[in-house]
Amino acid sequence: MTSTTVRQPETTTPEPPAAGTARPAWVTDRKLESWSRWVACPATGGDGTMTATAPYDASPTAAVPAGTPADVAAAAELARAAQPAWAELSVEARAAVVLRFHDMLVERQDEVMDLIQWEMGKARFHAWQEVLQVANLARHYARQGATYLADRKVRAAVPLATTAREVRVPKGVVGIISPWNYPFYLGVGDAIPALVAGNAVIGKADPQTPLTLLWTRALMAEAGLPEHVWQVVTGPGAAIGEAVVDNVDFISFTGSTATGRLVAERAARRLIGASLELGGKNPLIVRADADLEQAARGTALAAFANTGQMCIHIERVVVHNDVYDAFKEALLAQTSAQKLGRAFDFSCDVGSLASQAQLEKVSAHVADAVAKGATVLAGGTARPEIGPYFYSPTVLENVTEDMDLCLGETFGPVIALYRASDDEDALRIANQGSAGLSASIFSKDLATADALARRVRAGSVNINDGAALAAGTIEAGMGGMADSGLGRRHGGEGIRKYTESQTIVASRIGPIGPPPASPLEKFVNMGNNQLKILRKLRMR
Ligand code: NAD
Repeated sequence: MTSTTVRQPETTTPEPPAAGTARPAWVTDRKLESWSRWVACPATGGDGTMTATAPYDASPTAAVPAGTPADVAAAAELARAAQPAWAELSVEARAAVVLRFHDMLVERQDEVMDLIQWEMGKARFHAWQEVLQVANLARHYARQGATYLADRKVRAAVPLATTAREVRVPKGVVGIISPWNYPFYLGVGDAIPALVAGNAVIGKADPQTPLTLLWTRALMAEAGLPEHVWQVVTGPGAAIGEAVVDNVDFISFTGSTATGRLVAERAARRLIGASLELGGKNPLIVRADADLEQAARGTALAAFANTGQMCIHIERVVVHNDVYDAFKEALLAQTSAQKLGRAFDFSCDVGSLASQAQLEKVSAHVADAVAKGATVLAGGTARPEIGPYFYSPTVLENVTEDMDLCLGETFGPVIALYRASDDEDALRIANQGSAGLSASIFSKDLATADALARRVRAGSVNINDGAALAAGTIEAGMGGMADSGLGRRHGGEGIRKYTESQTIVASRIGPIGPPPASPLEKFVNMGNNQLKILRKLRMR
C-alpha cells in the first residue's frame, strides 16, 4: 500500500477540540440532578457514582449513581408491586401514555439528540434516526397494541358445546438490557411494547450512556407513566445486568454474542424467556446486473452509519467479478465524500467512535489485516486531529480468512471487498461465519434477488438497500439467526414476546368424557366415527 493511493474522507472540524466542550450548554447541573432522581437505588442509595467519557473530547460526562445488585432487587420489588394496577388498565389507556410521550418526543427531540451525541459521539443524523425509530415504534404499538394482543377464538375440542380462546397475559416484570450504540432506540424502543402489553419494566442503562435513558424516563413520567412502572438501574454492566436477569420474568437483551450466551444461560437456569439481539458480520452482495451507483451509495450509508457501530451495518461486500472494478471506484468516491466531524448539527455524515476501547479494537482489526496482506483502499487510520476516538471510513481488499476482521465483528467504519464469480459463489461467501443478522442484495432483477435472499442466513435481507429499510419496516420482525440471536423485535412478535399465551376453554355441558354408566367402548367407537367424519369434511 502506498499513502498516495489511500483516499481520506472530508473533515469538517480541523482544530483539535477543547476539552469539556462536548457538554451541551442547556444541560445544567440541576437538570442532571432531576434526571438522576429516576435511578432506582432504593435499597442502599447506591455505593458511589460512576461517570462515562464523552467521545468528542474525552471529558467526563456526568456522574450517575453506581447501583448494586441489591438495588436491582429492590427496584424489581417496586416494579412488581406497581405492575398489577398498570395491567388492569385497558390497552388503550396504556397506549394513551405512549402517544403523549410520542408527541412530547417529537417536540423535544433536540434535547435527546444532544444527549445521545454527548454520551456516544455519533453524528446528529444518526441520533435523529434513533428519534425517528422510537417515535414510529411508540405510535405503532400505541395504535396496533390492542390488535396484536387481542383474544384469539379457536375451535374447541367439542364443537358447539365448548368454546376456546387464547388470551395474552403480561409476563409481569420485563428486563431490558441495552448497549451503548443505540441508547435511545434500543433502551426505549424495546421497553415501549413491554409497557403497552401491561408489564412493568426494569431498564439497565449501559454505563456509557445512562443520561439518555434517564432523560427518557423523566419524559415518560411527564407523559403520565405511573411512578414505579419503569425502573432504570445504573451501575457496573456485568453485576447489574446479571441482577436484572435474576429478578425479572422475561429478559430482552441486546449486545454482543458473548454476553448474550451468558444471559441465555442465566435465564435458562431460572426458566424465564429471553430474546437476544446479538452481533452480526453482515454481507452485502452486488450482483452483476446491479445499479452500481445505487449499490455504492447503499454500501456507504449502511457501512458507515453510526460510525459503523451498528449491529446491522455492512462489514463485508461481495461483488461480482464483472463489475468489481467499476463498483470499487464508485464506492471509493462515496467513501471519500463522507464528512467526518463533531458537530451538534447536521453538517457531518460520520461521527466519532464511542470510546478508547472501540478505537483500539477497530485499529487492531485493521492493523492485523494489513500485517497479513490486506490492501487499504481508503481510510485505515485514526483521526486524532478531529477528536480522540475518530477513525476514517475504511475500505480494504485482499482480506483472507486468517485475518481477524474477515469473520469477526469489527463494529467500526471498516468494510472489506470480496470478489464472487457468480451468485452461488456470492452466497457461499455471504453465508460464511456464524452470524446471521442482516444482509443486503443489490440487483435490478428483483425476482432473482428474492430467491437468493431466502438462501442467505440472515434475519433480515434488504434488496437494493443497505440496512435501513428492514430496520425501518417496524411491522415486520427484526432479529438474528444462528449466533446473532433468538427472537424478534418489532411487529407482532415484538410485543407478544412480552406476554404469556393463556388458553381459556369453557364447556356448556359439564366435564368432557364418557357419559356416566355408559360403556367406554361405545365412547371410543363414537370418537373413531367422529375422526372419519371430520376427515371426510376436511375439517382440521
Ligand atoms: P455487551 O454485550 O458488552 O453489552 C451489552 C449490555 O450488556 C450492556 O448494557 C452491558 O452493560 C451489559 N452486560 C455486560 N455484561 C453483562 C452480563 N454478564 N450480564 C448481563 N448484562 C451484561 O455489548 P456491547 O459491546 O456494549 O455492544 C455491542 C454489541 O452489541 C455488538 O456485538 C453489536 O453487534 C451488538 N448489538 C446487537 C444489536 C441487535 O439488535 N442484534 C443491536 C445493537 C448492538
